[in-house]
Amino acid sequence: MVAMESPHAGRDYPRSLGEFQAWFPTDADCLDYLEWLRWPEGFACPTCGHSGWRLGDRRFMCSACGARTSVTAGTIFDRTRTPLTVWFTACWHFATAKDGISARSLKRVLAIGSYQTAWAMLHRLRSVLVRPGRDLLAGTVEVDETYIGGEEPELRGGRAKGKKVLTVIAVELREPGGFGRCRMAPLIDASGTSLETFVTQSVNPGATVITDGWMGYHGLAKLGYRHDRRSPRAARASGEDPNRLLRAPHRVASLAKRWLLGTHQGSVDGAHMNNYLNEFVFRFNRRRSRSRGMLFYRVLELAVQHGPVRYQDLIATRRPREKPPVPPQTHGCSPSLERPPADRPWRRRSIHSG
Ligand SMILES: [Zn+2]
Repeated sequence: MVAMESPHAGRDYPRSLGEFQAWFPTDADCLDYLEWLRWPEGFACPTCGHSGWRLGDRRFMCSACGARTSVTAGTIFDRTRTPLTVWFTACWHFATAKDGISARSLKRVLAIGSYQTAWAMLHRLRSVLVRPGRDLLAGTVEVDETYIGGEEPELRGGRAKGKKVLTVIAVELREPGGFGRCRMAPLIDASGTSLETFVTQSVNPGATVITDGWMGYHGLAKLGYRHDRRSPRAARASGEDPNRLLRAPHRVASLAKRWLLGTHQGSVDGAHMNNYLNEFVFRFNRRRSRSRGMLFYRVLELAVQHGPVRYQDLIATRRPREKPPVPPQTHGCSPSLERPPADRPWRRRSIHSG
């Protein structure tokens, strides 16, 4: 793949809501943008990589193997019944709202009847956020586990964990202070196998990994990490404040919890926690990004590089909360957001009354 120069605001992605609306008034404009994102150097056959030509029906034909394909085939927009103007509007809100958007709010914003459609669109967008082969965390990394999600314990009485999910968090420490990037994942248990799998998939070998004294971390040194085990007692002995141990994962966990309660009002079930954590990590790692439009570009760029996500896979473990799925004939068939010029409706009254 040809390395592209970094994208320009106002040329490669819209700088503002106004620009977004001006660039993408029709489904055809959206499709052209996806084509440009997927094949910046022109059509390349997904099967054999050769070039080809455009057919009359907006598909492409490979000049070498003869395969016919469309811009959206093999991406998360494959066979979508939701018009691209609706997808783009959903993606704009998802990417540009500082804390994202809930399915309930998106349903309102898009003025679509189906909560399920909004819910599934957001989950498909979330599922593209983890780029295969992304860089591992490096340098000095703090790792710890905690319970995240579910309802607040006081609402349920006692110490019921409800739908809380055991979650492991890794955060880079910056010199002289502050946090770098983070990674999070739900865990089945806090065993050595689970924790070591997470660390090897998230942190560069050779990095310094700081953990507490939990035995699940004992194998890290053998895996090539410089393992720095801290205990409150050792911290006190060396004059450190034990409350500041593993401060980075604690801080990230509390931000994630606040985000789940704020944007999603805690209505996140354990089965989909991985997807929500991926969204949180995506936002956290881009928290210093100056341009929100750039995030819109990044999400769509990932979306055309990601394979289809079937609805069955999204609901495999648990159905969306609000309503059972609606019958197939109405599922996903939201009207396009294409809009004809409105012709200054605010002037109409004076015509009628005048
Ligand atoms: Zn081909």
